[in-house]
Amino acid sequence: MARDVFSEMEPFRIKMVEPIHLPSGEDRARFLEEAGLNVFLIKGENILIDLLTDSGTGAMSDRQWAGLMMGDETYAGCRNFYNLESSVRDIFGFNYVLPCHQGRGAENVLHSAFIKKGDVIPGNTHFDTTKAHIEHNNGRAVDCTVDEASDPYLDHPFKGNVDLKKLEAVYKEFGKDRIPFTVVTATCNSGGGQPVSLENMRAVKKLSAKYGIPVCLDGARYAENCYFIKTREDGMRDRPIKEIARMQADCFDMMTMSAKKDAIVNIGGFIATGDPAIYDRIKNFGILFEGFVTYGGLAGRDLEAMAIGLYEGIDEDYLGYRIGHVRYLGERLKEAGIPVLWPPGGHAIYLDMKKFLPQIPPDQFPGMAFCAHLYLESGVRGVEIGTLLNGRDPDTGKNRPATLELVRLTIPRRVYTYRHLDYVVEAVKKVWDKRRQIKGFELTNEAPVLRHFTARFRWAP
Ligand SMILES: *Cc1c(COP(=O)(O)O)cnc(C)c1O
Repeated sequence: MARDVFSEMEPFRIKMVEPIHLPSGEDRARFLEEAGLNVFLIKGENILIDLLTDSGTGAMSDRQWAGLMMGDETYAGCRNFYNLESSVRDIFGFNYVLPCHQGRGAENVLHSAFIKKGDVIPGNTHFDTTKAHIEHNNGRAVDCTVDEASDPYLDHPFKGNVDLKKLEAVYKEFGKDRIPFTVVTATCNSGGGQPVSLENMRAVKKLSAKYGIPVCLDGARYAENCYFIKTREDGMRDRPIKEIARMQADCFDMMTMSAKKDAIVNIGGFIATGDPAIYDRIKNFGILFEGFVTYGGLAGRDLEAMAIGLYEGIDEDYLGYRIGHVRYLGERLKEAGIPVLWPPGGHAIYLDMKKFLPQIPPDQFPGMAFCAHLYLESGVRGVEIGTLLNGRDPDTGKNRPATLELVRLTIPRRVYTYRHLDYVVEAVKKVWDKRRQIKGFELTNEAPVLRHFTARFRWAP
């Protein structure tokens, strides 16, 4: 079948370049050893192609860089805040905007205002920082994702959807006194970058309204989600992305945003809502944790880049290229017989470690072992999304074996070319060819929260 070369090609040209370099095999082995076998702890300059995350790793446009020069560094009421407010109002229809330094800053503010001990926050595979902030506030995250999401090979258009029966059961059990809000993550990062349909969001909104429970959008990848709605949902194909973004936002009482994703900035985030009572409730926590309400831990210039980036993130040519670029990596890997979660996510391709390294049990972290070998072979860095990330059960202290044991190859926005992706495919094939000799990990050092950032290991015997 002929490929649609126009829609796949990069809708930009390159005006500045940043050299990358492959360290020698000997050096790579040493860097990995020094990092306690955790690729997270290797210096960025020693990575050739970095697919650790798409968070804050995108390339800003010429307009965004120009925006940096327009930073108004007034403490209170800087011009750039009002530009951000105007972008958020125009795209999402939310009148109240509280800037935060990044997504977890927004979560900290919102959760501090809303969650009390013993509360329950239902959602569709909560992101790791979201879950950690819920638990930090002595609440509990309850996963209500559709069962289709746990089959890595089931080709379903909206594997991020919320299961309404599961959600209603939680509503019935705990009621609005113990459920301060429900969170819908779109696309669903920890669930494979899978989208949520507009129909599902509308149904969640309706059900939640019946029980008097507010709904929050975790909107880090709201634009990629809109593109999936446009291309996969009935009756959406002819609607502009911006219109879909508004229809999506209309299903929510509030949103938290890591602007480091779909707003294509290196730092930034916000909370937005249409409800003045919610804004009143969060704003003092914003001042306490992030800074005054018109800057929220950011410089004026960062707010400006975000105000511009929000529009670039919903540009249709950009989104067509973006989703196609990620899909290209997934298709090449699948053709090579590598077990990849299907369909491809919006921002990343996920490798199925239960099939790749079946000999390694969950508590020996097959995803971590894979990442170590991928780095040794090629200088490429991926990230484990599995049992290490899942952490320990706060009640029992035991490892929580992940339903899906994955490695994520995350594509930064507007940074790597198709040729870089070809190199990644060859690198994964090399690890695949020696998969039967690969051993697991033993933990030697572990932090009590978000342990995947700093854990250290040795090879299991
Ligand atoms: C990245 C992310 C966050 C946290 O945002 P940071 O900017 O990294 O703090 C929250 N939710 C989702 C879905 C994310 O992808």
